[in-house]
Amino acid sequence: MRILIIGIGDAFSRFHFGSSALIHAPAGYVLIDCPDPIHRALFASTSKAGWNIDAGRIDDIILTHLHGDHSNGIEMFGFFRRIGRLNGRIPTKPRLHVSRPVSQRLWQRLAPSMEAPMPFGSHGASTLEDYFDVRVLEPGRTTTIAGLDVDCRFTGHPVPTIGLLIHDAQTSFGWSADTPFERAHIDWLNQAGVFVHESNLGPSHTPIESLNQLPKSIRDKIRLIHLPDDFDPSQTDMRMLREGQVIAL
Ligand SMILES: [Zn+2]
Repeated sequence: MRILIIGIGDAFSRFHFGSSALIHAPAGYVLIDCPDPIHRALFASTSKAGWNIDAGRIDDIILTHLHGDHSNGIEMFGFFRRIGRLNGRIPTKPRLHVSRPVSQRLWQRLAPSMEAPMPFGSHGASTLEDYFDVRVLEPGRTTTIAGLDVDCRFTGHPVPTIGLLIHDAQTSFGWSADTPFERAHIDWLNQAGVFVHESNLGPSHTPIESLNQLPKSIRDKIRLIHLPDDFDPSQTDMRMLREGQVIAL
């Protein structure tokens, strides 16, 4: 499994893309979260890493939650792929993996701009299923995505949010998603060999001071993301991620 970091920023970053990553999985590419501007963010990071992957080659997206800094790119990803199907350029419809509460609310968010009939001039409103094959992730049930086994766990963030544990045959990787500091969530993520954890101002995020209290054996596994622009790396001995960086497991 190889993980390319697409964005490391928080919701208000002036310098970074929103926190997100692209996994090179055994059976394709999996995007974790879809911030705006997704096409530019993918181009910037894949170019740095020499991957040259655009939205036309990513058939699986996992959305951890609906805050805009994690999900605003879904609209332009969806349009890109649907137009690609209509003109025969990209044959497949992408799968969108979300928790049940997100599956129930997502279209409310997207419909005002995406429900118009397509192609232009045709009749009948568009639906979410015209853009994405929506799959529900449930805690306690492992889902196979692009050849990876994916488990999820709800965090205590103010809107329904899932952290992820991702396994292939050899390795495992964790993704905290947005979360307040919660030791049970960290213990769950600690099943992985390496995990990405967010850090930002509480109470809906995890202050770096809380992560600094963890045992060294856990801190060594953590890679930091979702950081404020003024984050000072000297505050911690944990490693901060960079956009375009590849984690090879
Ligand atoms: Zn959030």
